[in-house]
Amino acid sequence: MSILAPFLALLLATLLVAYHRWSLAVFTALSATLLVAVALAGANMTATTVAAVLLAVVTLPLLVTPLRQAVITRSLLRIYTKMLPKLSDTEKTALDAGTVGFEGELFSGMPKWETLLAQPKPELTAEEQAFLDGPVEQACRMTNDWDVTHVRNDLPPELWEFLKKNKFFGMIIPKEYGGLGFSALAHHKVIQKLASVSATLSSTVGVPNSLGPAELLLHYGTQEQKDHYLPRLADGREVPCFALTGPSAGSDATSLPDFGIVCEGEWNGARVLGVKLTFDKRYITLAPVATVIGLAFRLHDPDKLLGDQSDRGITLALIPRDTPGLEIGRRHFPLNCAFQNGPVRGQEVFLPLSQLIGGEDYIGHGWRMLVECLSVGRAITLPSTSAGASKLAAVVTGAYARIRKQFGLSIGRFEGVEEALARIAGNAYACAALSQATAAAVDRGEKPAVPSAIAKYHATELAREVARDAMDIHGGKGVILGPMNYLGRGWQAAPISITVEGANIMTRTLMIFGQGAIRCHPWVLKEMQAAQNPDQAAGLREFDHSLFGHIGFAISNAVRSWVLGLVGARIGNVPGDAYTRRYYRKLNRYSANLALVADVSMLTLGGKLKFKEKISGRYADVLSQLYIASAMLKRYEDEGRPAAEQPLLAYAFHDAAHKIELALSGALRNFPIRPVGWLMWMLVFPWGRRAQLPSDRLGRRAAALLMSPSDARDRMASGVFLTPCENNPAGRINSYLPKVILAEPVERKFIKALKNSDIEALDFASQLAEGVAEGWITAEEKAQLEELRALTWDAISVDDFDPFDLQAASLHMDKPKSAQATRAA
Ligand SMILES: Cc1cc2nc3c(=O)[nH]c(=O)nc-3n(C[C@H](O)[C@H](O)[C@H](O)COP(=O)(O)OP(=O)(O)OC[C@H]3O[C@@H](n4cnc5c(N)ncnc54)[C@H](O)[C@@H]3O)c2cc1C
Repeated sequence: MSILAPFLALLLATLLVAYHRWSLAVFTALSATLLVAVALAGANMTATTVAAVLLAVVTLPLLVTPLRQAVITRSLLRIYTKMLPKLSDTEKTALDAGTVGFEGELFSGMPKWETLLAQPKPELTAEEQAFLDGPVEQACRMTNDWDVTHVRNDLPPELWEFLKKNKFFGMIIPKEYGGLGFSALAHHKVIQKLASVSATLSSTVGVPNSLGPAELLLHYGTQEQKDHYLPRLADGREVPCFALTGPSAGSDATSLPDFGIVCEGEWNGARVLGVKLTFDKRYITLAPVATVIGLAFRLHDPDKLLGDQSDRGITLALIPRDTPGLEIGRRHFPLNCAFQNGPVRGQEVFLPLSQLIGGEDYIGHGWRMLVECLSVGRAITLPSTSAGASKLAAVVTGAYARIRKQFGLSIGRFEGVEEALARIAGNAYACAALSQATAAAVDRGEKPAVPSAIAKYHATELAREVARDAMDIHGGKGVILGPMNYLGRGWQAAPISITVEGANIMTRTLMIFGQGAIRCHPWVLKEMQAAQNPDQAAGLREFDHSLFGHIGFAISNAVRSWVLGLVGARIGNVPGDAYTRRYYRKLNRYSANLALVADVSMLTLGGKLKFKEKISGRYADVLSQLYIASAMLKRYEDEGRPAAEQPLLAYAFHDAAHKIELALSGALRNFPIRPVGWLMWMLVFPWGRRAQLPSDRLGRRAAALLMSPSDARDRMASGVFLTPCENNPAGRINSYLPKVILAEPVERKFIKALKNSDIEALDFASQLAEGVAEGWITAEEKAQLEELRALTWDAISVDDFDPFDLQAASLHMDKPKSAQATRAA
């Protein structure tokens, strides 16, 4: 037997144990057994002895815990403490806030899919469904987005009233306070539907239900504050806004210069202890019409009226609109979206301490309060808005691409258009699955800090891509604004979603990976906490446990990456059906890849990784695509594995896999320590980068689903406003599709006959009459073609205006000064 046999036995044991993530004791026992076996089978005794000694030298010190701690862990802890990146208070707060859900599994290198699939299918209650079918449908019918965005630059007064009366602003407020007390899923569905008709409408409803006074009061308000404000917010007597951003503090919100000084002042005719606030905020949604303004500022107590500390930290307050010194009411003009948005300023605005959210107890906790609440709102408003806009664009663009004909063919039949349509289908499918998954996470009681950042970033990016493709397919029909245009305003609004609630570039690099790597990693946060434990003995024990857990984890991920790469992710027990099992296996591989590269990067780059945003951004993409793909697989299972949806799932999955490999290869090719990059490349891509974009054939199937009525198309259309009414050209076009398809053979027959004839009539009506006279078509077919012409005409029409109507209303008023813009910063 070869001299190499004992070493091969050790290698086999290493691979087996690491792949299955068994313990060191199992490794030792298995290795010893294999060594005995090869010795009995006649292996070279010297080689066997060397291998056994090697095994003992490596494993025994590690197996004897006190020895390991004293000799190895203590010195490693010292090095680790020096390497530990310094975290700002902002980052510490962000890390402490929120919970870890399935995204933790995706970071584990070995996701437990049964955990994902065991999560209950998200379902609405009968009451929530009735709200969607009743008031939400009605609000959509009442919305004419052209009137909103061009004519009045606001929702009409009757719609404001309707929204308030039906408690649209109180969806998250419990019933005991007069709100609707809806689930996050219902909240998601409401915003999704509203967004499919108007971004102004969905933003107006979204903001009071997202991060703002209601959410903050629910969690931290004093009983008195809750009793006073929540019922008034629920029925719209109070309109809230929340002011955090200012000219110098945008993404870096904790650097806010706005301040409050603790002092005595007048409030309701009495002298009380309170705060004098000076602030300058901008971009604040609903501010121009808000009656109660949530404000973030830094509290100072120079006269130590509240205690020993002078700088008390970020604090939150509620300012009634009529408070003296408050400057409010002017509007910004965000990309032609008409939701109310504007600056709020204040000079020495006095408030009693009872107006601080949570009262004195929560002074200085403002940032934590915001971060804790932000993840819930962020998980819903913008992802749902994006899902609504994408679903609608997908369905209507499919119909339009079938109805609109050029060169004698539906434009959707041209491969160039089909390619864009397929992208729309895949992106809208992914966006819908992603936004529903994060809403469901909130309903499971999670505060999904990382998934909400993933959902916010990717849903808005997917929606922007859908909007771009939909605009391209619609050509001039998308460009010409007016009541007939259902895409242009959404396209204009896309960058707003990208910017708000954490601008996307920063969300990707700092939040998704930065927080994700630390929060979701099974060991990193524990190591950091152990290293900072003031009880050194306990810290050493905890660090030892985490460190060796981490080392085993890293070895396992290296082995799993390499093995799964070698076999093209074709092995492993996974759930799913014949169609999806390969997807779960691929995700297992990518999960191991992510865990491996994240570990190696943190180990080799340490604190510098934080500034290597081109690397961490790509890792963020890997985590995000893993999350999106998992959300799609869960949706497929929840829907009962619909065969009709498989092309959409497949398209979106291949796209996600391609993005994952692209991100990984980009990060490894550009890894600053080149040999480390090469080594990781060998483990991650033993055969090179293999994932391809979805094939043209698959793209054709996905695009075809949008252009013909089907089960999958109905599912895509569900939850968006497609009622074919006067205000809804998108709904009308969608409703034409079955009739248009039915008329297609007749139309083909007629056009063919027309081409082969010598009739000279140029107008359609005469041609039809001739067609009947010549017997090419029947009288019913003539009626069918007439209807087809009328429907097509409605679908392809655009608006034109009297030039007067396009001039700003202020031109025709005697109010020149206020019509001018002033600088907000
Ligand atoms: C229409 C609208 C509505 C809004 N509503 C509200 C509201 O109701 N309440 C409120 O308080 N605020 C609101 N905002 C503010 C919004 O949250 C901010 O615009 C956002 O935080 C970004 O700040 P900024 O615009 O100053 O951009 P900046 O902070 O100047 O960012 C500019 C760019 O730099 C990037 N960037 C910044 N730091 C980093 C980093 N460390 N790494 C990588 N990239 C980075 C950002 O991603 C962005 O792309 C609203 C904004 C808009 C436009």
